[in-house]
Amino acid sequence: MGSTKSFSFELFPPRTPEGVAKLQPLIQRLASVGPKYFSVTHGAGGSDQDGTYDTLMAVVEHSGVEAVPHLTCVGSTRAHVAALLQRYHEAGVKRIVALRGDLPATAMSASAPGEFHYANQLVSFIRQTHGDYFEIEVAAYPEMHPQAPNPGVDFDNFRRKVEAGANAALTQLFYNADAYFDFMGRCEKAGIRIPVYPGIMPITSCANAIRFCNGCGADLPRWVRLRLEELQDDKPALLDFGLEVVTRLCDTLLRNGAPGLHFYTVNQAEPTLRLWKSLGLPVRQ
Ligand SMILES: Cc1cc2nc3c(=O)[nH]c(=O)nc-3n(C[C@H](O)[C@H](O)[C@H](O)COP(=O)(O)OP(=O)(O)OC[C@H]3O[C@@H](n4cnc5c(N)ncnc54)[C@H](O)[C@@H]3O)c2cc1C
Repeated sequence: MGSTKSFSFELFPPRTPEGVAKLQPLIQRLASVGPKYFSVTHGAGGSDQDGTYDTLMAVVEHSGVEAVPHLTCVGSTRAHVAALLQRYHEAGVKRIVALRGDLPATAMSASAPGEFHYANQLVSFIRQTHGDYFEIEVAAYPEMHPQAPNPGVDFDNFRRKVEAGANAALTQLFYNADAYFDFMGRCEKAGIRIPVYPGIMPITSCANAIRFCNGCGADLPRWVRLRLEELQDDKPALLDFGLEVVTRLCDTLLRNGAPGLHFYTVNQAEPTLRLWKSLGLPVRQ
């Protein structure tokens, strides 16, 4: 399985000296299995612009794997985004993950600064300024974006991003395969044909699984939460259980049409590599 499917890894720019020191071995270990690309997150409002760029350059230097920046637009001006796009263009970047981003709650008011309010505006801006030069990937929410009033409105907003010129989508993390299949069914009905890659978050701790799900409005199935709580004090058993749950999720997705997977590595090589092995994905020679 997997030869024609796309598997990508997401990193964030390290914020501590220890994180910076671990970046090169992290990239090299993850690159050893041959992902299609590494994407690198970007703080809303350009808060870690240099961190994103430096991490991208580390990917290029230490792996030779395609490096893909996330670009958030909320709180930014057109001039600022244009300068970033130019910098990426000059660095040879060919693909961008285009996002709105989240400003701190206090800044998310009608008076929030900036000339972009939604990701579809960013996609349009990239197309206006750079034509088809960049492949553009956008976010998709099988369980609905938490700020949307209902799934239908959220889906219409997803469609705006596709109509603005997105080539593919990466989903928010989820643990219910049916949510993804339902989303794909809605895409089919709407005539949306772009690939939608499930975003996969390995489970390595009970507290983190709950925190990540709460943070983005994803459902952690009750039976999974109860088992994680039960296994909290037995780390090896918890890791095995988490691996089993996420392997089954990925396997179900891949066998039923998902075009690949996007792994949220959280800058940890081991959980993603265990998952890779457990799925029997090919390793680059
Ligand atoms: C794969 C992935 C990677 C991510 N990487 C980052 C990152 O690097 N940095 C970061 O800060 N965050 C990142 N995020 C989080 C993301 O920025 C947040 O989820 C953010 O709240 C929404 O971003 P978006 O691009 O989906 O926004 P949008 O598509 O703009 O949607 C945001 C909300 O606004 C609504 N909406 C959209 N368009 C309109 C419109 N025209 N009119 C009215 N309502 C509208 C939508 O329904 C939704 O509720 C990532 C998320 C995913 C899934």
